[in-house]
Order: sequence, then C-alpha cells, then structure tokens
Amino acid sequence: MKLEAQVKNTLKKIKLSKKDKILVALSGGKDSTVTAYLLKKYGYNISGIHIDLKMGKYSSDCLKATEKLCNDLGIVLYVYDVKKEMGSSMCYIRSAVQTKHKGAIKNCAICGVIKKWILNKEARKLKFDKIATGHNLDDEAQTVLINVFKGSLQLSATSGPITKNTKDKKFVSRIKPLFYVLEDDVRAYAKKMKLPMHDEKCPCAIDSYRIQVRNFLEKLPGKDKINIRKNFEKISGKIKKKNLKIQYCGICGEPARGKVCKKCSLMET
Ligand code: SF4
Ligand SMILES: [Zn+2]
Repeated sequence: MKLEAQVKNTLKKIKLSKKDKILVALSGGKDSTVTAYLLKKYGYNISGIHIDLKMGKYSSDCLKATEKLCNDLGIVLYVYDVKKEMGSSMCYIRSAVQTKHKGAIKNCAICGVIKKWILNKEARKLKFDKIATGHNLDDEAQTVLINVFKGSLQLSATSGPITKNTKDKKFVSRIKPLFYVLEDDVRAYAKKMKLPMHDEKCPCAIDSYRIQVRNFLEKLPGKDKINIRKNFEKISGKIKKKNLKIQYCGICGEPARGKVCKKCSLMET
C-alpha cells in the first residue's frame, strides 16, 4: 500500500530506533490515529497521550475514540486533563488570554502553543525519548505557505519529519511519520482499516490564518501540495536558519527561544 510504504521510508529516513520510547500525541482524529496504528504495526515501542481540553461533547467524543484505539492496540494511554491540571477548560483559558491580549491572538494559536508545552513537559516527565505527532503533508504545505506569506521562511527551514537543531536535555524531539503523506490518503486509509476516530472539525477551529490557507490549498490537486513541500526542500538548505539556541523560561523553566516561553508569554505576562 502506498501510504504504508511512504511511512516506512520516512521512519527509515529519520532512523527511528525500536529501542526508543515513543509517546504518540493522540487527538482522537484520523492523523494521530493512523500514526499510532502504523508505529505499533511496525513494532515500535509506543504509548499514547491525550490532552483532554474539556470543550464539551467534542472533547468527550475525542477521548472516547482515543481510549478505544489504545485498547485495540494494547498500548498505555496517558490522559492530561486540562481542567484538573491547569484549573480551567481550554475555552476559558483561551478567552482569558484573548481578553488580556485584546483579542489579537486566534483560538488555534493559543491552544496550539499550550498543547505543545504540555506535550514536551509530560513526555519528559514520563521519560519518553520521542514525541510522535500526526502532522501530514497538507499541514506541512500550509506551514510553508504561512511562513512565506508572513516573511518568516527561516522557521520552515528547520522543519522536517524529525525536529532539527534542538538538542537539549529538557527538549523531547518530535517526529512526524506522516510528513510525506497527503491528508486525503490518511483519511482513506483510516476508513479502510476501520480505525476508531472522531473525524469531526473542532468547534473552536474558527478564524485562524491557517484555516484560510487550508481552504485555499484544498482547492488544489494533491500534486501541487507535494510540489510545495518538495520545492521547498530543494531550497531550504540555502535559507539562513534562525538562531535556535534554547534557553529556559524564567517563569516555568521549560525550553524557550527567549527569556520567557511562548505559553508563559500568553498566559503569565
Ligand atoms: S482545532 Fe484549534 S482550537 Fe481546536 S483543538 Fe486544534 S488547535 Fe485547539
Ligand atoms: Zn514558560
């Protein structure tokens, strides 16, 4: 099967070891579900983590699908309850951040930063070697275009199926086994294999810049998205990379690009 061959090649390319303890970030959606399914199928040492954002029925359906998947795969599932751990649901956290920053920051930008922060902290606490996420080729093509439009192409220069330039004892490296797989192929594969998933749009996924770019890319054929990624890879070696020296956040102690990490600059400053 084409998708399986693509994923196998990606895992070979990043030299993923069967000895690595891998924590798969499971949202309940098709991408992370296929990621976990294939890593398990190929004999990697995986567990799952689900961040329960406590956003009503959507969140409980996502959790249910994730529990079923982990049960079917026979893997351990860690659940991070945002309400218990951070004191409020993601909806509340987000509106507090938006009020503080006068609405200038979009829903997904806030939620995405917080989820990334949680994943790194939890994976390190649980002593995992790597975090696997379900990002697919469409996500990556969107990221390239967003960085082109925003004039920050250097940010894309360090992207890839495994994180680059981020060797630090507090930073758990991330892998993206679906990096070269089109979203439509992931959806078709998940359906074909009858994997348990909750493939509905998040009710809070509104007003983000990424969604506008996604809507634009959705109208293009798959080969155009592949070309965005491929052509970018050809030139990425020539792009001057941003200085990615990691520091530790003065507020929470987590890895940061500056004196304060992105999560704390949203929530604490
Ligand atoms: S779509 Fe946006 S708001 Fe919804 S879970 Fe994902 S990042 Fe959070
Ligand atoms: Zn911080």
